[in-house]
Amino acid sequence: MSETIFSKIIDRKIPARIEHEDDLCLAFHDVAPQAPVHLLVIPKKRIASLADVTPADRDLLGHLVVVATELAAKLGLADGFRLVVNCGRDGGQSVDHLHVHLLGGRRLGWPPG
Ligand code: AMP
Repeated sequence: MSETIFSKIIDRKIPARIEHEDDLCLAFHDVAPQAPVHLLVIPKKRIASLADVTPADRDLLGHLVVVATELAAKLGLADGFRLVVNCGRDGGQSVDHLHVHLLGGRRLGWPPG
């Protein structure tokens, strides 16, 4: 997989407001927030999209979700939040490095556009 904006953030080649880091993932604030809290949780492993995961990524995907929910609690989203993973062109994915959006801090509409 080639370099993306997100792999450059992992490698500290471009800056980001990092909220969490561990061996497996990085979480940082979205540069164009769609809610008062809008974080992106990304694996350090270069996986382009959900369409590219394999059974070997099962624990890693679970880890991303657990980290996102821990950050939701840390950031005070007691009234709820939403995790979103856009996949591919029809799914609205614009960066080809798997990422989980954590959105919260306002009442979110449904269905999405
Ligand atoms: P998606 O459209 O699901 O692929 O989401 C990509 C997200 O990355 C968008 O919400 C962008 O605002 C966000 N984004 C793009 N570049 C950066 C950046 N340099 N730092 C933080 N977030 C970014």
